[in-house]
Amino acid sequence: MGEYARNQMVITPEYGPRLRFSKVFTNLPLVHDPPKSLGVRAFCNICTKCADACPVNALPYGPPETSKDQSAIKGVRKWTSDAAECFGFWAKLSSDCAICMRVCPFNRDFTQWQHRLWLKMAFSRFRRFALWLDRNRGKRAKPTDWWQSP
Ligand code: SF4
Ligand code: SF4
Repeated sequence: MGEYARNQMVITPEYGPRLRFSKVFTNLPLVHDPPKSLGVRAFCNICTKCADACPVNALPYGPPETSKDQSAIKGVRKWTSDAAECFGFWAKLSSDCAICMRVCPFNRDFTQWQHRLWLKMAFSRFRRFALWLDRNRGKRAKPTDWWQSP
């Protein structure tokens, strides 16, 4: 479906980081297909936009590694957040944050051709160029501008 990213989200080619998973428990015999690499991890290896933007430095730099954080899944090598810092910030806001979703270059509307073209580049050896093209995106819109836009 997608690939795990530095911002702790699963990024898919259809929705970027903007999806929520739900579980259905069943005893139906189901087959699953093998994992396949899309190119998200390769992109995250050269990008730190989410970690740079996190107001409480809860996201990791560097490659995926095993974490001793009490909230981390033990023995799994992955990008792991400092969950206490992240949720502490949410508690201060009395709301959630999602800055790491907003600034992610994959946060795009892939129904539009120009974003699908960008995605092709991001999943290819031109990923550094795709990251450069993203340099001015992800800024917070002024609420007044958003409400007044058509
Ligand atoms: S949700 Fe906010 S505080 Fe938590 S990791 Fe993302 S940017 Fe940081
Ligand atoms: S902002 Fe960059 S490093 Fe963070 S999840 Fe998105 S692509 Fe990966």
